[in-house]
Amino acid sequence: KLHNTILELKGNIRVFCRVRPLLPDDGAGTEMPVVSYPASMESQDRGIELIQSGQKYPFTFDKVFTHETSQEDVFVEISQLVQSALDGYKVCIFAYGQTGSGKTYTMMGMPEAPEKKGLIPRSLEQIFQTSQLLQAQGWKYKMQASMLEIYNETIRDLLSVNRSSALDLVRSENCGVGKQYAIKHDANGNTHVSDLTIVDVCSIKEVSSLLQQAAQSRSVGKTQMNEHSSRSHFVFTLRISGVNENTEQQVQGVLNLIDLAGSERLSRSGATGDRLKETQAINKSLSCLSDVIFALAKKEDHVPFRNSKLTYLLQPCLGGDSKTLMFVNISPDPSSFGESICSLRFAARVN
Ligand code: ADP
Ligand code: MG
Repeated sequence: KLHNTILELKGNIRVFCRVRPLLPDDGAGTEMPVVSYPASMESQDRGIELIQSGQKYPFTFDKVFTHETSQEDVFVEISQLVQSALDGYKVCIFAYGQTGSGKTYTMMGMPEAPEKKGLIPRSLEQIFQTSQLLQAQGWKYKMQASMLEIYNETIRDLLSVNRSSALDLVRSENCGVGKQYAIKHDANGNTHVSDLTIVDVCSIKEVSSLLQQAAQSRSVGKTQMNEHSSRSHFVFTLRISGVNENTEQQVQGVLNLIDLAGSERLSRSGATGDRLKETQAINKSLSCLSDVIFALAKKEDHVPFRNSKLTYLLQPCLGGDSKTLMFVNISPDPSSFGESICSLRFAARVN
């Protein structure tokens, strides 16, 4: 309860920064550290500085996680937010950052290693556990999952059983036929995506197998799963409806967990063809997302939800009394300095 009050006072948008550890493959262009954390009391756990050529670039966020922060410690900070989806709130958690900065690690982690599980499996575990506990108070929950990706402003269903969705993508791009995945919002603030597979789920096991199916579906027709997945937005949605048999109280919450496409800018070497088109689509949708969150934070009258598929899809879960958390993921690799600065500026704008 206290936590929710704080959220409301601060507005419903928060930004957490997370720095991944240096990896063996990171280019050792310079021996100088590029990331530091100011030690002053007021900026403790909230401040981060990028350093280049002796110049410091300071930023402040709602929370800063260093390269030493574990998956569990990250989850502790968001578990209340996840919980609020069971209380009937609409929640969005995004991971933003350049490819290789730790977005997928933060969202999915490595599900095979329990301590490295990311916030998607942890959130689901918590939701199923808590919903079981709440049964004792008369609560009955129904959960529905869907998973899609947005690639070049086109929605792909990742749970489509007939595995034709890769073909659908080609068809709808080339000749405008195939499944449309049209987005509609109803008067109750619910989103409907035509033709999208929605699966009733009752256990963490069921959702885990759907997540696996989605991962497979993402790599269809692509040799490089990582390559492809870094060029598209992944959107996991869990719809939660709860009824209390004693009080007849009803709640409808939504939890959206989004692994965004890599935010890297066009390389100077000059991308062409499909790659250029991809990058332009990604840049456009990420800047639309920034515009929307910025407009919401500033309580502007006009919020440009319709400017991208992602923001239009998530519209009912971004405005009103919904809750949004943006992770900005940062690589400490000195060669990523430019991209890291861009990511922090992006995040500082919406914070
Ligand atoms: P992205 O999804 O942003 O492209 P990844 O999540 O795939 O980036 O991370 C890139 C690499 O860094 C992966 O090998 C991942 O396991 C590793 N990594 C990222 N964040 C962490 C972390 N906090 N701790 C340990 N390894 C990490
Ligand atoms: Mg990734």
